[in-house]
Amino acid sequence: MSVMLLAPRKVLELTDFHSLGLSKQIVATLSALGYEQATPIQENGIPVVMQGKDLIGLAQTGTGKTAAFGLPLIEMLLADPKRPDNRTTRALILAPTRELVNQIGENLRNYVKKTPLRINQVVGGASINKQQLQLEKGTDILVATPGRLLDLIARNAISLRAVTYLVLDEADQMLDLGFIHDLRKIAKMVPAKRQTLLFSATMPKSIADLAAGFLKDPVTVEVSPPGKAADKVEQYVHFVNGQNHKTEMLKKILTENPDGRSIVFLRTKHGAEKLMKHLDIVGFSVASIHGNKSQGQRERALKGFRDGEVKTLIATDVAARGIDIPAVSHVFNYDLPEVPDAYVHRIGRTARAGRDGIAIAFCAPDEARLLSDIERLMGIEIAVASGEAPMDRGRPARPARRGGGGGGGNNRNHQAQGRGKHEGGEGRAAHGEGRPAGKPGHRKGGNGGGAGRPGGARPGQAKSDQGKPGQPRSANAGGYRGPRRSEG
Ligand code: AMP
Repeated sequence: MSVMLLAPRKVLELTDFHSLGLSKQIVATLSALGYEQATPIQENGIPVVMQGKDLIGLAQTGTGKTAAFGLPLIEMLLADPKRPDNRTTRALILAPTRELVNQIGENLRNYVKKTPLRINQVVGGASINKQQLQLEKGTDILVATPGRLLDLIARNAISLRAVTYLVLDEADQMLDLGFIHDLRKIAKMVPAKRQTLLFSATMPKSIADLAAGFLKDPVTVEVSPPGKAADKVEQYVHFVNGQNHKTEMLKKILTENPDGRSIVFLRTKHGAEKLMKHLDIVGFSVASIHGNKSQGQRERALKGFRDGEVKTLIATDVAARGIDIPAVSHVFNYDLPEVPDAYVHRIGRTARAGRDGIAIAFCAPDEARLLSDIERLMGIEIAVASGEAPMDRGRPARPARRGGGGGGGNNRNHQAQGRGKHEGGEGRAAHGEGRPAGKPGHRKGGNGGGAGRPGGARPGQAKSDQGKPGQPRSANAGGYRGPRRSEG
């Protein structure tokens, strides 16, 4: 495997798309979409893919990774004008969740406007018959969750014999969700003569093993080292004494930040639904997304949130994975995740596209160990905004930000983490029990008004004077901080 290392660069030095070998037509399309300069994963990844090499992209959602694999894929497909046979696809992109599949499909459709390329997407929880019909005519790029794809293959709705490009997106999440067997099955059906691209936010051993089995002499491009994703996010923790205290604290902070847009993460679907209902009843503008919601319900909730009609989205990790929602001001870790990586993914939902963001964690006494695991993974100590840390935790009171220094210092080493299971089986599970969608899209009075920056009253105020959320701290754009490219 070759590895390229590149010094951090400022966004102003980024490359335009022409110099990456993209055609005039695609560059014009990108320009119309407002993409003028490539992000680091695009700048470093696109030429590698255009050269026909296998690629490992270590990058989170928000870094522009979809275009990093999508644009060269589209160029290569356009360069080879043959039409796909019925019930075949020329390129296959696998992603862990329906939301991510839909998001990738949506992005790619924007890029292939004015080209003859046909994109299809297939996900669980939607009509399989309709998907079967869509595949009938032949597909240039198929975006799929692994489970639904296998179901369609079993029905002879699609064959993978013509696939020459295979992309595994959010590979770490696919493994977490237990898709490894499905991936192996699928890889066996794809011709060995192919180009394979793998994207992952983290690179645990399981991903390295997967890459070794699926890719040939890959080039690795890394823009956000694992566990270091959240430079621009101010992080705070409130030590609380239990569930009710968390809810009270959440309501207080939401009320203090009427213009904020927040995602609140919980560990369980049940907990998420219960909290959503409570907040709804007491007058907050909320919706929830989790594995018990049908696809339609999730999409409505997301749309309401994107449109700004829903101010607070209550989510589980699985449901919110990989979703790109601009302008999230606050991420709440209402429950701390069992797996520290999930914390990195969660707080990566904020501080995108050049904005700052605030991550607030609630830590009950029985979660202190989880907090330590997170701090160890990230190599930081999270500032205490309120409450008392358990006795044995010597903690400085300053916001956590990488490179910010600060006392303590005994938690700075990164450690390899074992990965646990999250709420499982998203892609294969049957969804769609007919509960109401928690009125996504509706707006409650009494929560609006109020001016000021998204951060509003800052948690942990007076604990530190550095880096107010309203003030940009860097010329760098969202998610593109500290790019590192590797080769060699
Ligand atoms: P992704 O990491 O692929 O989920 O992309 C995150 C967001 O950035 C998406 O909304 C893209 O449309 C947007 N995006 C990707 N590349 C660029 C670019 N070069 N310039 C501006 N926006 C971009």
